[in-house]
Amino acid sequence: MTFEEAALCESLKNNVNKSGYVKPTPVQKHGIPIISAGRDLMACAQTGSGKTAAFLLPILQQLMADGVAASQFSEIQEPEAIIVAPTRELINQIYLEARKFAHGTCVRPVVVYGGVSTGHQIRDICRGCNVLCGTPGRLLDVIGRGKIGLSKLRYLVLDEADRMLDMGFEPDMRRLVGSPGMVDKESRQTLMFSATYPEDIQRMAADFLRTDYLFLA
Ligand code: AMP
Repeated sequence: MTFEEAALCESLKNNVNKSGYVKPTPVQKHGIPIISAGRDLMACAQTGSGKTAAFLLPILQQLMADGVAASQFSEIQEPEAIIVAPTRELINQIYLEARKFAHGTCVRPVVVYGGVSTGHQIRDICRGCNVLCGTPGRLLDVIGRGKIGLSKLRYLVLDEADRMLDMGFEPDMRRLVGSPGMVDKESRQTLMFSATYPEDIQRMAADFLRTDYLFLA
């Protein structure tokens, strides 16, 4: 697959070109067609492999193709995609890449993470949020405060899943996936990325992904 073959809509294609991406990396070449086909995916990919664009591009393409637009100001937002990563640095990188790709479109990414006050993040959410990027604890916090509804969720991405387990986030991830109102796994597309594939990651993949998920290494 080339970026041309990915059949990206005009604004997304322009934003990808502006990023200077010419040739897809292997995880993009193989992952984008799987995600675009609507399949759940467990991908073994390291930081630096280009995995962020591998999941962002097909998700943003679908949201843009469907004309998804962020709601006007609202006390509760119902994002179409939630992306989870273990650290503030990592989730911020994902958010910045999402913002770059979504520039000039109706898709509005928002980021939330712990260690800073929740107030301005909640105000940011209320201004419109289609793609919510967050660390596990802060995501649970904003969902628990009733600021995020889950009924429209179509995509759930768990990035650096092995690091999330190493950092003790398994209970938070299970709480997130089991949140009241969370769409079941048959009704959403779930994508997991991990550098390693030990037994606890395999167990999580079995619990969170549809049984016919694809594995990419
Ligand atoms: P990631 O593994 O997603 O953290 O990406 C690692 C770095 O590679 C980031 O700085 C991306 O902006 C960059 N990158 C991702 N995909 C491509 C590509 N197809 N061509 C050039 N750079 C890329």
